[in-house]
Amino acid sequence: MPNFIDLSGKTFGRLTVLERTTSDKYNASRWICKCECGNITIIVRQSLQQEKTKSCGCLRKESSKKHGLSKTRLYKIYHAMIQRCHNPRFRHYKDYGGRGITVCEEWKNSFESFYNWSMRNGHEDTLTIDRIDNNKGYYPENCRWTTMKVQANNKRRIMIECPDGIDRNFTQISELYGLSPNIISYRHRFCQKRNITGEAMSRWIFRTYDDIKSIN
Ligand SMILES: [Zn+2]
Repeated sequence: MPNFIDLSGKTFGRLTVLERTTSDKYNASRWICKCECGNITIIVRQSLQQEKTKSCGCLRKESSKKHGLSKTRLYKIYHAMIQRCHNPRFRHYKDYGGRGITVCEEWKNSFESFYNWSMRNGHEDTLTIDRIDNNKGYYPENCRWTTMKVQANNKRRIMIECPDGIDRNFTQISELYGLSPNIISYRHRFCQKRNITGEAMSRWIFRTYDDIKSIN
């Protein structure tokens, strides 16, 4: 008696196993299943048990049909947003997920929700998604659709008091003090997170300035 597990009567996703049928050419047992949608289909045991197959195929069709937008620019933006916040293997993760920037549950779980918000909030294919507060995540109240130019201006708007008493933006500081914009931005965020402001912040941001000066 070959040892085999009787799957009949069990359900896997939308599939209910009716009975066993002939094995496939690798001798894997195959089962006749009835899908919730009414279709009858034959599935190999492993696919059922490893949850690789959960329907006759109607499930996948529905979920891609549901928004039918998986090839659109908006979907790509959506996908990339989730990747950079929630996939440590994604190349920009360190600047997003790595520093605590997340996508709200509502959007993360539903493209439709993100899509609807976007449509209500002036999304156009020429615009990019922008976070109003760069230290906060992606959620409706902190996001807007803007032109690249507005985004760049937004970053430029952050002014920091330099050791000579003049306020400058990241680019100007970078040019003048030879600090990379990433370093400035990192230190600036570091200060914001800890409520370090004014002169104390300036000391943090320019803390290698004297070293650089002495080298020159
Ligand atoms: Zn089905």
